[in-house]
Amino acid sequence: MIIFGTRGIKSTVKTGQFTCPQCAAQRPYVHKKVKKFFTLYFIPLIPLGDAGDYVECQSCRGTFVSRVLDYRPNQGMNQFQSQYEKAMRHCMVKIMLADGVIDDNEMLMVQKIINKFGHNDMTLDELRAFVTQVERNPQDISVYLKAITPSLNEHGKEIIIKCAIAVAASDGHIDKSEIEQIQRMSQIMEMSPSHVRGILGEMTSKSGQTA
Ligand SMILES: [Zn+2]
Repeated sequence: MIIFGTRGIKSTVKTGQFTCPQCAAQRPYVHKKVKKFFTLYFIPLIPLGDAGDYVECQSCRGTFVSRVLDYRPNQGMNQFQSQYEKAMRHCMVKIMLADGVIDDNEMLMVQKIINKFGHNDMTLDELRAFVTQVERNPQDISVYLKAITPSLNEHGKEIIIKCAIAVAASDGHIDKSEIEQIQRMSQIMEMSPSHVRGILGEMTSKSGQTA
């Protein structure tokens, strides 16, 4: 009796890291190709062509169409962007609330900064609602800032500190409580104290204000 048939043989095309839709996280993957073979006595003899390919998550073992790999860079960027916006918004409002008074000029400055670095234009009413939210739920200033710190270079950190100083100075003077918040932000971002003093000195001398 002659036994013949077909069989799919899997081979690895590529391995790497991807955003697994099932785990919703960065995971190792294996991209596999399936080739169909004509078999004789269970031995693959003649290739019959491609039977498809798939991506397998090495964590949950879920399999996905190979297009899933294309989503990775974009998602990573969007995720960073939204985390960055959250951190910026939260930090600026925390600085504004530091001295216990909300000034109109401070509100305008915070709005300007949020909209400069964000995707969606925030109206003053939306900002007021957000401020109320932060007042009611006083999470530490590090909550969002910590998450983006590993993705920031020195320049990125400086921008955040400069924005914070601009908010603090917008009501005409920089309060001691505001300086303390700014110093805490720089500690969270692991900046050297002399670096921060330098930025503070540079910015306060320009506008003629002192702490
Ligand atoms: Zn997975």
